[in-house]
Amino acid sequence: MISLEADVVIVGAGIAGCSAAIAAAKENKKVLIIEKSDALGGNATQSNVGTICGAYYRTFFEYPRIVGYSFSTAFLNKLTSLSVEKAPKNYHKGLYILSYEWSILQSFLEMELLANGIRIMKSSEIIRVDTKMNSINRLIITSGQESLEILPKAVIDCSGNGIVSQLAGLERIASPSYQSASQIFRVRGLLSDSEFSLNMSLKKAMSMLVKKNNWPLSFTYLSVVPGSLKNKQADFKITFPDTITDFDGTNNELYLKGRTSIETVFPFLTEEVESLRSASIENIFPKLGIRTLQRSKGKYILTESDVLSCKKMESGIAIGTWPIEEWQSDGNVSMEYFEPDDGYMIPADCLISFTLDNLYFAGKNISATTKAIASARVMGTCLQTGYAAGKIATCETSDGQKEMIALLNKELLFGNE
Ligand SMILES: Cc1cc2nc3c(=O)[nH]c(=O)nc-3n(C[C@H](O)[C@H](O)[C@H](O)COP(=O)(O)OP(=O)(O)OC[C@H]3O[C@@H](n4cnc5c(N)ncnc54)[C@H](O)[C@@H]3O)c2cc1C
Repeated sequence: MISLEADVVIVGAGIAGCSAAIAAAKENKKVLIIEKSDALGGNATQSNVGTICGAYYRTFFEYPRIVGYSFSTAFLNKLTSLSVEKAPKNYHKGLYILSYEWSILQSFLEMELLANGIRIMKSSEIIRVDTKMNSINRLIITSGQESLEILPKAVIDCSGNGIVSQLAGLERIASPSYQSASQIFRVRGLLSDSEFSLNMSLKKAMSMLVKKNNWPLSFTYLSVVPGSLKNKQADFKITFPDTITDFDGTNNELYLKGRTSIETVFPFLTEEVESLRSASIENIFPKLGIRTLQRSKGKYILTESDVLSCKKMESGIAIGTWPIEEWQSDGNVSMEYFEPDDGYMIPADCLISFTLDNLYFAGKNISATTKAIASARVMGTCLQTGYAAGKIATCETSDGQKEMIALLNKELLFGNE
């Protein structure tokens, strides 16, 4: 069996995994990132969620301030320099979002990882985790027909599902049920240049069609992904009423069901909505958008009360600014806001394993309750937890780790000048 060594192994190349990899590589560490699918970006590109949320403070008065590290600012600036969208949009109640094109984000992530000397293994899946004396000493991955062994100094689980904890037999944070899944698909040939009026006509037509055809109520909330309408094409988001479980097979089934639903619903829409008369489906994105699954258990579990009270912590390594956003099975979205111009801190202990000394977490896999992760899962926050986990995982002593956490906290609060 081929054997590889790495200082930091990252599992999952979503937005959090890529941020973690870049942060660790900048500390001159040998970094390896393992990704199950054949592309980088996770939900951000494979489900094409289309907008970056949680990257700005909520504000009613001024141009929004970016939240987080200078890493987040540089990341967003570089991404916008490659994109058509150059500035964030006021989305709702003082919340700002940045639209992006999935293919640009995907190639940008690839460029950044390669520029930082990170070894990328796509179509590779972690299947076994061995531990010795409270540390991970070996990972087994399958890559194509081959099995490889990896000997890591530190592991950051950015799988969005606590896969490393699962394989190591550790407790994870499960929820009785998860938020509804949505599927995004691209439509071309639209005869509208206003997202507002397109959304109004979609809503009107779907309300009627849902009643007439006995479709799930959640289909009424079919909508345009904000900022995606351009050049006669737009991304549409449809939400499914089905319960999301921890069993992968169910979610694959749901994806197939999702495709069929879209193909069933769309012809009716083209008849009912004037601006869709000559429209067609260009693409149903490859990954069903599942908002959260199980999380890893860290030394601290972020709570709903931490989020809503904008709790500050000395060991805070990320600032969450997005409300608690939950997608119900009827397609409705509930939002629980906190004060504008404020945010809650995520302590480093949400990123550090409760049990294993060299295991860390980032992104939607951090140690948080169901309610708390409904805020902390957005990409602006994933950029920060990814970056912080990458830095913390490079420290080889507990004193070094404490110093790093203090530095990260200082940069969050005062900038890095
Ligand atoms: C429908 C939907 C709409 C959303 N809308 C927005 C939005 O508008 N704005 C926003 O900011 N956020 C949005 N989000 C949330 C956001 O997209 C995600 O929470 C965020 O992208 C998560 O990033 P991540 O890196 O933590 O995880 P993911 O993006 O899930 O990445 C995890 C990666 O790990 C890989 N992986 C999993 N298991 C293994 C394994 N065993 N071995 C190797 N690799 C593995 C996966 O293939 C994947 O690439 C939305 C989410 C959904 C589902």
